[in-house]
Order: sequence, then structure tokens, then C-alpha cells
Amino acid sequence: MKKYIFNLNSGEIILKPKLDMSKLYIELSSKCNLKCPMCFKNTFTDPEGFMTKEIFEKIIADLREFPNLEHVIFGGIGECVTNPHFLDMVERVKKEGYMLTITSNGYMLNDLLIVKLITLGVDELIVSVETGDIGHPSFKYVEKLMKKISNYKNQKNTGKPSLAVETVLTRKNYMDFDNIVKMLLPYGIRKIVISNLIPVYENFLGLELYADNSKKEESILRNMISKAVTAKVNAIIPNFRLKTERHCNFIEKNAAIIRWDGEVTPCYRFLHDGIEYVYGKKKEIKAYSFGNVLKNKLSDIWLSEDYSWFRYKVRNSLYPSCTDCDLRDGCHFIENTEQDCWGNEPSCADCLWWRNIIMCP
Ligand code: SF4
Ligand code: SF4
Ligand code: SF4
Repeated sequence: MKKYIFNLNSGEIILKPKLDMSKLYIELSSKCNLKCPMCFKNTFTDPEGFMTKEIFEKIIADLREFPNLEHVIFGGIGECVTNPHFLDMVERVKKEGYMLTITSNGYMLNDLLIVKLITLGVDELIVSVETGDIGHPSFKYVEKLMKKISNYKNQKNTGKPSLAVETVLTRKNYMDFDNIVKMLLPYGIRKIVISNLIPVYENFLGLELYADNSKKEESILRNMISKAVTAKVNAIIPNFRLKTERHCNFIEKNAAIIRWDGEVTPCYRFLHDGIEYVYGKKKEIKAYSFGNVLKNKLSDIWLSEDYSWFRYKVRNSLYPSCTDCDLRDGCHFIENTEQDCWGNEPSCADCLWWRNIIMCP
């Protein structure tokens, strides 16, 4: 068993990392068939691509070393259905016995593909939906798609895939939320993942529902969401203001993400090089990888000293908090994710996923 010793203040921390990954996101493609104005992809500077069969097969083989791995998600930033080997990859994951969630914009899911996904036993399908002019293009399309999938499921007399939607609420579209839920409920959606907006351009500033950190506004939004969703739907609701507690869902759930080119990253935020505006301040996001599955075994990457220490630090909030720091107006550290004032590299110090303001499935 690996064992690492770190000095912290006047004490020693002894880490004995385990092969306890339980959830793996795989980015089959960082390309997309759409171009949503609010998409993180608009500012990415790293190359785009499809995951090859070689990388995918290496991942599948490496996963067998992880006894707790139950859930695979085809996600990342891009549209997984664009990968030319998409269906083979679906089949492969199901043959290995994992629960499989597919996240998609839904625009390439034709009748043939829907029937195939049902036949292959995909467990969950999460489709993105918004109203307004900066999100995904047509709510009506998603409504028709959900209806169609629901009909096929009834014909095949199956509950799979369980249907879910993810939506980004902004100051311009939140009043449509109730309507979205009402329109989709008849088709049996079981989960709604609600997130806030991270502006990727300056002209989106002001659209964030959390910008004012207002308790009153948060309570109005929470009431609106609670009224709209029924007991049958599992609503994942973000925070709409800064709370003291920091909780990274990727780290807490022992998840990792493998980018299309095999790089292993801890979360969506560190997948690609891009731009975010965090509480109005422009921030350069630098992709961060703990290794590539083509060069190393996934188990070695997971158990490595750097990755183990990183997970420990995030779990135990060993980062400063830039979002509510009095010095942030003059601080150069917040210009990018490379380092913070405590010497962490990379830094999670002003991550809005950590504040549960941004949510992922
Ligand atoms: S569908 Fe998703 S990945 Fe594609 S452009 Fe829109 S937000 Fe980006
Ligand atoms: S890096 Fe440190 S000093 Fe700078 S804003 Fe963050 S917490 Fe404040
Ligand atoms: S806190 Fe944020 S940046 Fe850090 S691992 Fe979690 S999601 Fe990634």
C-alpha cells in the first residue's frame, strides 16, 4: 500500500490512498454539433478531438482495478454523440456492467439511435435545456425528444434510460423554469440538475443569479424551484449566494474525468484552457492533468502522491477563499488557476463548483 507523509503546520499528515474511485466521467468528444453562446468551449484554446478506440479500451481495461467503480458518465465539455465510435463505446461500458449515464444536447439522437440506446440498456440520459438566447437553442426540440423517447420506452416496456435534464438559470430565463418542468413532467423526467451561469464573456456579466449574494433573492429562487418540482423529481439545486461551506462534488464522490486525449483531470473545471468570470473578475483557467492513460495505468495516476494530496486538500478545504477575500481587487493570483497565496498549484481557491454555485450531473 502506498503511503505519503506531508508536513502541515507543525504536524504530519500520513496519506494511504486507496483505489476508491467510484465514478468516472469520460469525454468522448470535445467537439460539438452546436455553438451555444454561453458555452465554456467558446474560450477554449487547447485542441479539440474525439477519443480514440485505443484510449477508450485502455481506460476500460484499467478500470478493472477499481473495485468501487460503479458509474460511468459520458460527459465532459463537448457532445459525446459526435464520436464516430459512440455506440460501440456505449455497448462496451454496459458489457462491463457499469451504470451508464449519457449527457447530451439531444440534437443527434435520431429514432434509430434512441432505440439502440434503449436496447443496450443505457441507465440514464441527461439532456440540456434552456430558454432564452444564450443557452441551448430550442426548448421545443427537447420537449419533442423527451416525448419520443418516452413513447419508445413504453413500447419496449422499460424504465430505462431514466430521463433527466440539466439547465442553467440566468436572470433572463429563470421565470421560465416552472414552465419547463410542467412541459417535461408528463414524459417521466426523474431528475433536474440546475446550475448557475459562469460568464465566459464580459457582456454576460450581470446575468448571474448569484452576483448580489442576496439572502432574500436566494429564498425567492428556492421557493420557485420547490414549487415547480414535484416529489417525483430529484432536483439538484445550486446555491445562489456564497456560503461558508465548501464542498467539491467531484472530489467528495471519488470521481475523476478523462479528457478525450487521455489526460486525467479531477473535475470539469480543469479539463480545458479557457476563460471564466468569477464574481466579475476575468480568470484564465489552465487545464490540469495528473497523468495520461496512454503513458500510465489509471490506478498509478489515482494513487500518485500529487493526486492523493490534491484530493486531501480539497476535501479538507486547505485553500484560501478568494471569492470573499478583501484583497481580491488587487491580487494577481486570481488572474489564473496556476497558484494561490498559500502556494497551492493548481488552485481551487475561487472555484464556484466548490461553492455549489455551479453544478454538474
Ligand atoms: S451543446 Fe453543450 S458543449 Fe455543445 S456548444 Fe452547447 S453548451 Fe457547449
Ligand atoms: S489568492 Fe489569497 S490574497 Fe489573493 S484573493 Fe485569493 S485569498 Fe485573497
Ligand atoms: S474545487 Fe473546483 S477546481 Fe477544485 S477540484 Fe473541485 S471542481 Fe475542480
